[in-house]
Amino acid sequence: VRFTDAGLHPAVLANCQRAGYVVPTPIQGYAIPTILGGSDVVAIAQTGSGKTAAYLVPILSKLMGKAKKLSAPRPDVTKPGFDIRSHGVRAEPLVIVVVPTRELAIQIFDEARRMCYRSMLRPCVAYGGLPMQICREELGKGCDILIATPGRLCDLMDKPDLLSMNRVKFTVIDEADEMLDQDWETELTKIMAGGDTNEDADHQFMMFSATFPKGARELARKFMAEDHFNIR
Ligand code: AMP
Repeated sequence: VRFTDAGLHPAVLANCQRAGYVVPTPIQGYAIPTILGGSDVVAIAQTGSGKTAAYLVPILSKLMGKAKKLSAPRPDVTKPGFDIRSHGVRAEPLVIVVVPTRELAIQIFDEARRMCYRSMLRPCVAYGGLPMQICREELGKGCDILIATPGRLCDLMDKPDLLSMNRVKFTVIDEADEMLDQDWETELTKIMAGGDTNEDADHQFMMFSATFPKGARELARKFMAEDHFNIR
């Protein structure tokens, strides 16, 4: 199987080709069709396995066809005299990716930017230590995909003028075991419960982890459909 046969949106396929992705890695071979098909994914994946593209590519492919309909209206930042600090637009992302570290957040943000090239979708990154004013300005420019560390994301969830979770259709928990080791269980539960909860929203959850300790299994059981667990 190749990326060209995966039934991807042409814009994201072009971005895969630009990145030099031809043959999907094993985790991509599993996750791409599963996510495209609408199922939740729980998978064991190490760094370097291609797990970032394994969830970003199918999620973006699903969103690109309907970005116009789903995305929140965004400010025209090119308008003369536009002041991002005072316009007061909050972020209403469609995708949340939660990761344990700032480094990983930035790495995934870079991959998201490559995969969103020439699309209407705009990724943003937020992590502990990023000055809140910069965070506010970035989110205010429009945010469809929010990549964040759990503490900062929960801070933002407590500021409804900055972030609304109401449109979130995809929630990705990346390196779940690392975050549970750092005692973020309460925050992860809050984040997973925070997205679009309408019955017909078809909110999809994805969890990637190098190991599956009890805490990760519990989170998965609580929020995810069990028919596609891929824990071996
Ligand atoms: P990750 O495990 O997501 O951190 O990805 C590890 C590296 O593999 C990154 O540099 C990706 O750009 C690269 N990569 C991901 N998928 C593929 C693929 N199908 N073919 C070649 N390289 C890939």
